[in-house]
Amino acid sequence: MSKFWSPEVRELTPYIPGEQPREQLIKLNTNENPYPPAPGVGAVLRDFPSDHLRRYPDPESRALREALAEELGVEPQQVFVGNGSDEVLALAFQAFFRQGRPLEMPEISYSFYPVYCRLYGIERQALPLAADWSVDLEAFSATAGGVIFANPNAPTGHGHTREALSTLLERITESVVLVDEAYVDFGGESGVPLVERFPNLLVTGTFSKSRSLAGLRLGYAVGSRELIEGLERVKDSFNSYPIDSLASAVAIASLADREHFAACRGRVITTRERTRDRLERLGFEVLPSQANFLLAHHPEQDAAQLFVGLRKRGILVRHFNTEALRDHLRISIGTEDEMTSLTETLETLCQAPA
Ligand code: PMP
Repeated sequence: MSKFWSPEVRELTPYIPGEQPREQLIKLNTNENPYPPAPGVGAVLRDFPSDHLRRYPDPESRALREALAEELGVEPQQVFVGNGSDEVLALAFQAFFRQGRPLEMPEISYSFYPVYCRLYGIERQALPLAADWSVDLEAFSATAGGVIFANPNAPTGHGHTREALSTLLERITESVVLVDEAYVDFGGESGVPLVERFPNLLVTGTFSKSRSLAGLRLGYAVGSRELIEGLERVKDSFNSYPIDSLASAVAIASLADREHFAACRGRVITTRERTRDRLERLGFEVLPSQANFLLAHHPEQDAAQLFVGLRKRGILVRHFNTEALRDHLRISIGTEDEMTSLTETLETLCQAPA
């Protein structure tokens, strides 16, 4: 503890998103994509003129915002870009959620939201999930200081339809509703087409998952011009050059290759369903998922022991054991071969005498 830290920082424990091992492991712990980015990404990295790095990047990231706007069916002025959706989320918390009224979020959701609340001094109201483990949209109140949830949710994988989002937005009009779509490309329904109708809807997305570019750190937000301007005001106060030129070029190349995108996404979805089936045959209870991970619980096995057993055999998954989520494993979807190794190893572990 340092006397130099401000009070909010004293309360924080550093967030560790998931082990990034140095040795070769089957890495199924941080929801990365097992397939490489689009071939055009490699070409950009090979051919990018190094002299371009002499200049500052476009402070408005126009080329990238135009490419994203075209892909998402909105105007470039409705798009904001940042260094990973984590940064975009951090800016949104500062721009919209410091309202003196609690920010509402599901009790089980992305673990970074409570961290931002503590960091920015925002009171948080955590709401239980519905009985089927979906985010309980009816529980959010019209008088909240804001609403945030991931859709599909993490780490449950459940996604709501656009129609359900629209019903929520008809009711909540006085504060920002932030829908975090980090995983939407794996079978969810995007709320982006609703931003025209609802000026308080902000949708965030990322290149880290479905576009296989987690190492690039590129995320975005889509919303009304009013909300995008709110984000720009916060950003401008400390960093006016958000996206570096190389990252912009890489991201544009990724957006250009729709075929590669669809093929990788399709493979992840097929492998997810096969893995779910295999896990269920091993006695796991597995939630249906519209994301690139599965949340699994075994009624007769200790998840901590399974986690350690897998780790010893070179397979890394995420173990959850919080008050709200006891004894679960979250397993990112890897290649077919990786998932076969996972299920075969789990089979051995489940059969071993306790
Ligand atoms: N939202 C959710 C729900 C996530 O799981 C993650 C990744 N852990 C992020 C946002 C952040 O992703 P990135 O910063 O890589 O865009």
